[in-house]
Amino acid sequence: MKFGILGALPQEVALIKRCMTAHRSVVVGTRTFHEGEWGGRRIVLALSRVGKVSAALTTTLLLERFGVDRVIFTGVAGALDPRLRPGDVVIADRLLQHDMDARPIFPRFEVPLLNRSEFPAALAPEAEAAARAYIAGALEAEIPAERRAAFGIATPSVRRGLVISGDQFVGGAAQAAALRGLQPDALGVEMEGAAVAQVCHEMGGVPAAIVRVISDRADGSAAVDFQRFVDDIAEYLTGGIVRVMLERSA
Ligand code: SAH
Repeated sequence: MKFGILGALPQEVALIKRCMTAHRSVVVGTRTFHEGEWGGRRIVLALSRVGKVSAALTTTLLLERFGVDRVIFTGVAGALDPRLRPGDVVIADRLLQHDMDARPIFPRFEVPLLNRSEFPAALAPEAEAAARAYIAGALEAEIPAERRAAFGIATPSVRRGLVISGDQFVGGAAQAAALRGLQPDALGVEMEGAAVAQVCHEMGGVPAAIVRVISDRADGSAAVDFQRFVDDIAEYLTGGIVRVMLERSA
């Protein structure tokens, strides 16, 4: 078993890079892949950068050049479900590209010639169990209560379901409401997950997990300082969840 791990922002992979045992780094085009071990597993870590093309390219390289057979994406997302708060964890079990629209030739959201609009993330149950275990266990020691309190976070909740992706930062109330209207089941919105899931699907059904921490309400309301939140909370939370996932994947 060899895990490919990717995140879109430098802070989303920085903690894992510091904690892993790296054996070598390989540059392919504009990306650097770090091969090594973490949580008792062989991993290859890469910064994908933001957006669907970036995520698809990185995932493809992880699979084809580095031979990973599991993929984990970690990062932050905007909340669409009004019950979600910053710090809550969303595990995608299926993903959709909300900006895919080839009407009238294909139905809205359907990826042309693949006959589907949603792509699965088969490691969702493992990711959800790891998130719950991390929050019940190591969270208290690794992300102190005072630091969480500074962002209004007590105990994060964990939800599993639909996550939607598109090449736009959703930061306006009208934009968020429109997405809610189109995809009422969507828990959150981000910019990479559905691309990762599509590549994993097309490359033979590679099991994937998309682990997201809610950073904002996707409506422009500055509930938290985005950069500080990613630095102080999100990278620890997603990093901890991924570590527990790796440790439990024996
Ligand atoms: N304002 C940020 C933008 C970073 S891009 C900055 O200045 O750095 C946003 C990244 O976080 C993407 O990788 C995306 O997947 C995720 N994300 C978080 N909230 C989002 C939202 N409301 N809409 C779209 N993507 C979001």
